[in-house]
Amino acid sequence: MQPRRRKLGRFKLSQGKIYNLEKNKKILVTSALPYANGPLHIGHIAGAYLPADIYVRYNRLKGNDVVYICGSDEHGVAITIRAEQDGVKPTDIIDRFHELNKKSFVRFGISFDNYSRTSRPVHHETAKEFFKDIYDKNILKKKKEKQFYDENASMFLPDRYVEGTCPVCKNQGARGDQCEKCGSDLDQTELINPISKLTGETPVLKETSHWYFPLGDFQGKLKDYLDRHPEWKENVRNYCYGWLKQGLRDRAVTRDLSWGIPVPLDGADGKVIYVWFEAVLGYISATKEWAKQVGQPDRWKDYWQNPECKLVNFIGKDNIVFHAVMFPAILMAKGDYILPENVPANEFLNLEGQKISTSRNFAIWLDDYLDRFPPDPLRYMLAANAPENKDSDFSWKDFQTRNNSELVGILGNFVNRSMTFLAKNFDNTVPPATDLDEMDRELLKRIATAPQSVSDALEKFEVRRALKAFMDVARDANKYFNDKEPWHMVKTDKVKCGVTMNMCIQISRTLAILMVPFMPYSAEKLWKLLNLNGDAAGQNWATAGEPKVAAGHKLNPPEILFTKIEDGVIEAEMARLNDSQKKPESDGKKEKTGKSNLISFDEFKNVDLRIAKVLSAEKVEKADKLLRLEVEVGEEKRQIIAGLAQKFSAEDLVGKRVVIVANLKPAKIRGLESQGMLLAAEDANGEMSLVTVENEIATGAKVK
Ligand SMILES: [Zn+2]
Repeated sequence: MQPRRRKLGRFKLSQGKIYNLEKNKKILVTSALPYANGPLHIGHIAGAYLPADIYVRYNRLKGNDVVYICGSDEHGVAITIRAEQDGVKPTDIIDRFHELNKKSFVRFGISFDNYSRTSRPVHHETAKEFFKDIYDKNILKKKKEKQFYDENASMFLPDRYVEGTCPVCKNQGARGDQCEKCGSDLDQTELINPISKLTGETPVLKETSHWYFPLGDFQGKLKDYLDRHPEWKENVRNYCYGWLKQGLRDRAVTRDLSWGIPVPLDGADGKVIYVWFEAVLGYISATKEWAKQVGQPDRWKDYWQNPECKLVNFIGKDNIVFHAVMFPAILMAKGDYILPENVPANEFLNLEGQKISTSRNFAIWLDDYLDRFPPDPLRYMLAANAPENKDSDFSWKDFQTRNNSELVGILGNFVNRSMTFLAKNFDNTVPPATDLDEMDRELLKRIATAPQSVSDALEKFEVRRALKAFMDVARDANKYFNDKEPWHMVKTDKVKCGVTMNMCIQISRTLAILMVPFMPYSAEKLWKLLNLNGDAAGQNWATAGEPKVAAGHKLNPPEILFTKIEDGVIEAEMARLNDSQKKPESDGKKEKTGKSNLISFDEFKNVDLRIAKVLSAEKVEKADKLLRLEVEVGEEKRQIIAGLAQKFSAEDLVGKRVVIVANLKPAKIRGLESQGMLLAAEDANGEMSLVTVENEIATGAKVK
């Protein structure tokens, strides 16, 4: 390597640390705080978390001083509604989902510096201080108003406690604060046919008083602020200007609720701070908590109160108004804080062509995915297909294609063919690059510009384009390998072949570093295979494109970087998604009164339940959860594919008399036809019991 270094000259510079040539920037990155009332699904991840993590990891490699903050939002009305529906305390819900989501983020490689929660004292104090300070400046206004009240439940019904028909788009499931369908921000009294989420009754209007934040007074300042940011994403700017055009209204920042942060004023008993006023302040309190954790309790000020610091809030499009309008206005009212420098909001991710729905359980849940697959293929898929400028779609088939033809077929293939070739012909040792030809020099130029091509896109928060720029490097590497035909050269000119293989290792090193933001686990795996010092994430972006692997360097034995996903695995996932989906429900009364769950006798009669005897049972190959059963139903024998393998062994089942749904439409699962469904009960802890019968009643007998 030495001769070439001298020839190209500029490597001298890299040894004198490029780090110091570029000014390190302070960057504070946040991702929207997820409600701790349910698990995370891929739509959340694609919107506010993965793009932010990619940006953060990239900036760390650049040597910038980045702090990445997030945490659970634990005060939303969605949480108290769920607690009431489940008959538990809000803390039961938030404790469970805070832990679950925190763990899922870690498993997925989302690299927060702190993942806090808004129920912590530091957050309560921060939110109260903001509220009190803005109140003391005489900015807040107290107003009497009429609000919906549920007489049966004896409580006011803020925000989502009321649902009804959207006055704008006529969507019937609009919430009291916002219509999810058309995105309109609503005042609940505007809803047509309002219904209480608690009892399903029509609420009455009752007088109460609240403190208002005069958003309208900030109209001019907010417009100037927006005008200063023509670089923001089109969707965010359009949305904000749309709001300004309508004219900003005063917003109530208190609520009549028992769950939340108490309003720190006299005469405000029974009132809490509106969740959207305080949740965005969670970014500040979580940074304070982080500063304490790193032993420098005042360090949060270096970010939040430092005009040199760049604040970037990653969100989904449903949060634009709160982050790009309300949050800056609150920060302006408070003073002494920096404003968001950018608010990259993503559109929504759909699933198999439909909207993801948590209530219908139509989603791919992150923790569930991670139980069965490694994180990187999903990170790749969601980045390649990020809903940046319009909604995008996730399908299991696309996931398989991206994995097999891009990760395995292009990136993995290049690394694997290079390393196996070196293992076979060069004793796993990097040969010297003594005499470069035109093609080699072109390749070196290509590698040298690779970091910049990825940077250009990431600086603009364009994750898709950045990932494509990265994959183009791998594509060009494969082309170089093909054009050079080292498998011929090794027989005719081993020295020249060695030069080619040296290049292939240089480019593999570059790929490993550039891969860190997108697929951190695979990047480290490649780094280990290359047997390089430290880790890939600890390298410097600026020198990622330089040929730094010395001749004579010993590599580790080759291993496959990405694994092919078989058809059967994808079919099983699709079947799973279908099976777990609940029928749409009309919400409102259902869980409290059970009225809409009632079915007629005729409807029940349509289900043909029969006694069956299990004749044999075996595990379905390559499917952890599936058992293939053969059952006897009277004269008939049937095959049933059941998702019982994790709870029952084949021996547990053989000989049992069970109840099956005999007239279920046959379904193909893993290519096997399932001719019916076996009944089993499952409790909240996942314990399962088969539905069996007491005596040796004849198979085929009808259950009624
Ligand atoms: Zn609407």
